[in-house]
This record gives sequence, structure tokens and C-alpha cells, in this order.
Amino acid sequence: MKITFLGAAGEVTGSCYLVEAAHKKFLVECGMFQGERYSDLRNHEPFDFDPTEIDWLVLTHAHMDHTGRVPKLVKEGFRGPIYASVPTCRLCEIMWQDSVHVMKMNLEKYGHETLYHEPDVKRAVNLFNPVELRRVIEPEDGVFIEFFDAGHIFGSSFVRIKAEGKTIIFSGDIGSDNVPIIKDTMPRPECDFMLLESTYGDRLHEPAAGRAKMLKEILTKTIKRGGVLMIPAFSIERTQEILYELNTMVENKQIPSVPIFLDSPLAIRAIDVYREYIRYYDFEALGLVKSGDDIFDFPNFHETLSVDESKTINGVDAPKIIIAGSGMMNGGRIQHHLEKYLSDEKNCLLIVAYQAHGTLGRRMKEGAKTVEIFHHPVAVKAEVTSLDAYSAHGDQEKLISWTKRSSSLPEKIFCVHGDEAAARALSARIRDELGSEAMVPTYKQTIEL
Ligand SMILES: [Zn+2]
Repeated sequence: MKITFLGAAGEVTGSCYLVEAAHKKFLVECGMFQGERYSDLRNHEPFDFDPTEIDWLVLTHAHMDHTGRVPKLVKEGFRGPIYASVPTCRLCEIMWQDSVHVMKMNLEKYGHETLYHEPDVKRAVNLFNPVELRRVIEPEDGVFIEFFDAGHIFGSSFVRIKAEGKTIIFSGDIGSDNVPIIKDTMPRPECDFMLLESTYGDRLHEPAAGRAKMLKEILTKTIKRGGVLMIPAFSIERTQEILYELNTMVENKQIPSVPIFLDSPLAIRAIDVYREYIRYYDFEALGLVKSGDDIFDFPNFHETLSVDESKTINGVDAPKIIIAGSGMMNGGRIQHHLEKYLSDEKNCLLIVAYQAHGTLGRRMKEGAKTVEIFHHPVAVKAEVTSLDAYSAHGDQEKLISWTKRSSSLPEKIFCVHGDEAAARALSARIRDELGSEAMVPTYKQTIEL
């Protein structure tokens, strides 16, 4: 078995691994490079393989850094089946359609070349072969693939592949434990090799238990001083988890009633997928739904789907809460709110998601006093605070304990999907504590297993 690391090697985004086994070639993930403009340009480079020669594609979850180049792959001739969980198939369709819309706008505004178009998305969606968790599929004689719940976002999975007498796990992204709505990561089954994500490979999160309390404190403080609370959130998972917490706080009257806006068409559409597949919920969320509670609706909650509806938010007096994409603030409706509200010290920007290098969010998280939005300087006077406990990614402790808790350890672990420092820190701890061989592969490196 041969594996080539074509993305997320020494960096977080662009996940794409070419596997050659049993005389077949297939991909696990085909994600977008995200972050700096340089990353965007890399998405336009030709693939390092002939897309027509790829027999099938496996996707662990719907995030764009794992799936964003799939329509481009299809545009350039890929016609094989795409294996992914049922919610992932549905969420990808929504994400890709949104991506086409954003690319069209960027073409009009900045002249940026588009990566693919609507027909490519349609063709890609038609290639989906939804897979149930824990059911082994055999796309080719002697190649076995099994999906397990990764507890990262709705429908997310890690994948175990067996071929040529070897077993390898692709971790995809591994979630934190005890997050609302979704189930915890399934225990790691046995394997010989593993590609392990390392987004937070060098860090520890605040304990999950205090998460709702911290959120409530930030909300109460901002509401008291009559401010606007802006929460930039990824459309899938962070947004729904925060809505879940708000639903509980509002319905139990733990916070004053203020208008809460969900200003993200993508997140609004994703909620439909959550509602459709409640069998993916954890015990608690399922219990609430079965008791008749709509976990995505509560008093004074408003979804602003259209641009016109979004514009009405400005006319509503503070205090108010606005949840809007994009998660790293590099685009999307959050920018309009940042432009309007960042310069007032009454307001608060709450960062709940990972911020990649080169993004507006990263600059703000690192304490920038002035940022550029829509080509104008904007003073950052609002309170900027972050809550890492809402991270969709497990911290170093989770990654280690998940790797450890199995009857045997992998012979070799490749730390991927992390900044160089995070990936190196995780691989060092794996070597020291677990004794498995561990390494950080380089971009375009091929390894024979
Ligand atoms: Zn992810």
C-alpha cells in the first residue's frame, strides 16, 4: 500500500491523500486549502494525479478543508463513487452550492477565478454513495472500508481501510468529548497505521463542563452593558451547538430575553439536515426532541435567510446577539457586523472556532488593535474573547487518550492536519508516551507502508 500526502501536511487545511492499493488508486478527502490568498491560489493548481484514474473517493466529513475541491475533481474527469455518511452527503451539497455562490461574488468583486460551477456540484452530488456507520463496504475485491463516528461535526466519521494485509485509519477530524447534540468519538479500533489529525496537537482546552457557564457569563456581561455580541461560527456544528445552549438558557430563563439572530444562510439550511437525521444525536439531544422541544427554535430567535432580512438586524436596538459566518471571519456576513460594531467598547466579539494563520479571525485573536475590513481600517475597541471549549477538535489529551485506548497501538502514526508546531508536538508525545513511531509527513511525500 502506498500513500501520498497531497494536503494537510504540516498545515491544517487542504486534506487530500492518494492511496494506491490492490491495483487501484483512490483518494481519502479532497479538501480546499484555506487561509491566506496564497492558499486560495493553490486550489487552482492542477492535481498531482489524473482525476480520471481515481477509482473512488472517501470523505470523512463535510468541512470544506476536507471536501472543497471535490467538484473540481469531478470537473476534471473523476467519475467514481464517493463514499460518505448520509448527513455528510447532504451537508456537502449545501456547502458546495454555497461555495459556488461565494466564488461567483468573488469573481464579480475581485476578479478571482472560479474553481467550479453549479453543474460540477450537481454531477458530484450524483456520485454520492451514502454509507452507514459500522457497515463494511468492499469497493474492490480485497479492499474493505468501514466508517466510525468521529464526534467532530454532524455526520463526521473516521475511516478504517484494510487492503493488502494492512490496516490503516484516517482519523479525519476527531471531536472533543461531551459536546452538545452529537455523539462522542467511537473508540479507536485496531490498526497498523494511522493518519492522526493534530489541529490542537500542542494545546489543551478549557474543561467542557464549564463551557455553558462561561458562555452565559459572556452573554450576561454584554447584555448588561447594552452591547452587541457577535459570534462568528462555522455553519455546521458550532452554530447548532451554540443554538442548543441558547435554547436551554432562554427556555429556562437563565439569560435576559434579547433578540438572537442567526445570520447565515448556510447554517440555516444545515439545520434542516440536523432535523432530518436525529438518529445521529446523542442521548440528551434525542431526549429533548422526543419530549417535543424544537432545539433550534426558542422565543426571540430570528433566522435571516435573505440579504434584505439580514439588513434589518442593524435596525434592531442593542443588546442583541448575532451569530454569523464565516467562522474565521475571512468572508461572509460577519464582516458587515464587524465593520459596524467592532469600534464600540460596549460590544463583544466571541471567538468559538479555530482560526487559521492569515485569517482576519487569527489577527483579532492575537490582539490586533486595527484590522482591515472591506479595504478600510477598523479600530478594534470591542471586547475580544475566545472560548476554546467549543472547539470541534479534540485537544492533545483527547488525541492521545483516543489513540491509546485500544488493545494494541498502531505501529506508525502520521501526524497530519495541524500547523507544523502542533503536529511536531503531538508526534513527540506519541513517541515518548506511547512508544509508537510517529512522524509529520511533508507535502507531496509518498510513503510505502
Ligand atoms: Zn473538520
